[in-house]
Amino acid sequence: CGIVGVLGSHEVAPIIVEALKRLEYRGYDSAGIATVDRGTLDRRRAVGKLVNLSDLLVHEPLAGKSGIGHTRWATHGAATIGNAHPHRAGRVAVVHNGIIENFRELRAELAEAGIGYETDTDTETVALLTELHLDQGLTAEEAAARTIAKLEGAYALCFLFDGEEDLMVAARKGSPLAIGHGDGEMYVGSDAIALAPLTDRITYLEEGDWAVVTRDGVTVRDARGALANRPEKRIRLDN
Ligand code: GLU
Repeated sequence: CGIVGVLGSHEVAPIIVEALKRLEYRGYDSAGIATVDRGTLDRRRAVGKLVNLSDLLVHEPLAGKSGIGHTRWATHGAATIGNAHPHRAGRVAVVHNGIIENFRELRAELAEAGIGYETDTDTETVALLTELHLDQGLTAEEAAARTIAKLEGAYALCFLFDGEEDLMVAARKGSPLAIGHGDGEMYVGSDAIALAPLTDRITYLEEGDWAVVTRDGVTVRDARGALANRPEKRIRLDN
C-alpha cells in the first residue's frame, strides 16, 4: 500500500519508518523494512501498526544507509509476518503496491526452474524471478528489468540488492511512484507526501517506466527500454 526507498547519508531505518508514518492514512495491516549494511541485505517485518515495527527495531536494530520500506494492505495472503513485505529471495528484496495478475503463471515458470514458493503473496514471485535472473548471470539492473518485463497487473515496485549499497530499481504501472532528489541522497515514494520532510524535488514516473536510482541521480526508461526524459519538479506540500 505504501512504499519508501532511501539511498541516504545517515542511518536509514528511522527515516524510512517516519516516511511510512506519513502514508499511514491509507490504511495497512503490516509493515516491514530492508536495508543493506556493509554490503549485507537484511530485513525486519511486523504485523499491525508501525509502532510494532519500531519496537522490533529497538530489540533487533537494522543498520545501513540504504533501505526500502512498506506498509501492506493485503490482497493475496493473510496479514502475517511471512506475507509482509519486503519479500526476499537470495540477494534481492522487493516491496510492491498493487496486484501481479499473472503470479500463478510466474510460479509455474519458477517451478520449471526448480524454484518453489513459501508465501501466499503475488509479490514473492517478483523476488524469486529476479533472484533467478541474477543466477543466470544478469546484473542487478538487468535482472530487475527482465522481471518487470514479465509482470502483468498493477504495480509500484522498489528493489534493493545484497552487495549494492548505491542502487535501487523502481517501476510503475497502474500505481503511482515518485522519485525524490536530495543532496547526495535519493528517495523513492509511492506518494510525494511520504518524502515531504526529505525533499520537494520530485520526478514522477509515468506508466510503464522503470528507473535505476543511485545517489548521483536517476535514469528512467520507458516500457520499451528507451531512455525517457522525465522532468524534475519542485512541488509544494503544505504539511
Ligand atoms: N498484492 C500485494 C500483497 O498482497 C501488495 C498489497 C499492497 O498493495 O499493499 O502482498
